[in-house]
Amino acid sequence: MTTDDTLALLGGAPVIHQPLPHEVWPPPADEAELAELARQRNTDISIRGNAGPIGALERDFLDFLEGGARFAVTFNSGTSALFAAYFALGVREGVRVIGPALTYHAALSPVFALRGDVVLADIDPASRCLDPKTLEAAITERTKVITAVHQWGHPCDMDAVLDIARRYGLRVVEDCSHAHGSRYKGRPVGTFGDAAVFSLQANKAVFAGEGGILVTNDPLLHDRATLLGHYRDRSRDAVLDEDLRAFWVTGFGLKLRMSPFNAIVARHALASFPARKKARHHCLNHFTRQLRSVSYLEPVHTADEVDMGAWYGYKPLYRPEAMGGLPRSVLIDALRAEGMEVGAPSGPRLGTLPLYSGAENPLFPGAFKEPSSPAPGSHAEHVEQHALSLPTFTDWPGDEPLIDAYVEAFRKVERNRDALLRHAARLSP
Ligand SMILES: *Cc1c(COP(=O)(O)O)cnc(C)c1O
Repeated sequence: MTTDDTLALLGGAPVIHQPLPHEVWPPPADEAELAELARQRNTDISIRGNAGPIGALERDFLDFLEGGARFAVTFNSGTSALFAAYFALGVREGVRVIGPALTYHAALSPVFALRGDVVLADIDPASRCLDPKTLEAAITERTKVITAVHQWGHPCDMDAVLDIARRYGLRVVEDCSHAHGSRYKGRPVGTFGDAAVFSLQANKAVFAGEGGILVTNDPLLHDRATLLGHYRDRSRDAVLDEDLRAFWVTGFGLKLRMSPFNAIVARHALASFPARKKARHHCLNHFTRQLRSVSYLEPVHTADEVDMGAWYGYKPLYRPEAMGGLPRSVLIDALRAEGMEVGAPSGPRLGTLPLYSGAENPLFPGAFKEPSSPAPGSHAEHVEQHALSLPTFTDWPGDEPLIDAYVEAFRKVERNRDALLRHAARLSP
């Protein structure tokens, strides 16, 4: 430590010297990937059923799930794959889907395109996933589906979710878009629900650029999901149910396929994922251990029965009471001035968005019914208002000095609490 401990926000020298961005994502392609993309360009730029890289990606993905799923179907996005999952599970007008109040909207938004209703349940503040008690309390006669999002990569309490689903006769969708490679009680997520979806969008841990994949063990769900997005060849070849196969020429009217170029990118990302996963694990475990000594932070939690916490966006909670009530926005200003890449997470509670809040949905005028949202003071609201968004470090041991500099910046702010409170008082007298 230098003798002058003045905060950079108040004219001192910053702790972190590495220029932004600190999270560089997605990682660049290697020569083999570029060569394969070029080859594909001159071989076939269209989509032929699941021939070529598309079928290869689907097989790789089933291997990645260690035999826990029988069928994998690619889509042009995670949102499309979720749409297909909800369609396959029979979501339609009058059907309710229960999901978490604080997550990425696309986990549940496709329900509205099927004229279904979304009911929001509160989250568990530690795992950031569906809280089983509020989930059970939200079930009504019309509920048919539970959407378990493994938020930021930490698995949901799947024993509790599956037990509730069994007792009430509900189907379960796992949204694994944050959670590639995450395990619950030793088993990969995506192998617990009736269907599971992994987004492969550019920001995700396994990325196609744009793309998504649906996995299931249920042949009927596979057939319906396939017919929603893959008419002609693929439905003719892959749909097994006789009655459903009659629709192979048209499917159910939509084309939601993944391009072979995205499949090539995704295969390479999947192949290099285990090494990145290991490095991230080292980085974030190290970061979490260090952050435990910062009084105003609650580091990201990892339950005993899981093998990783939040991989996908590291988001500890701020405890303003340990900083004399300093507003989160001023804390963020101070940390940014120290050279940190930090912000407030961008996703609001779903209940505050027009599609969810009971406003008229222009897609189906007059048909919208108001979803129930957890009351103010909910855990979802607490996390929304107290989380800090930090980089997901992926280079070990390369990122270790940067992680340590982050920890030092957090501590420096702690030491300068009173000066920062005086600064905040000047901002809003
Ligand atoms: C990214 C994401 C989606 C949507 O996936 P896209 O591929 O971007 O359409 C859905 N749910 C969650 C939790 C996500 O993070």
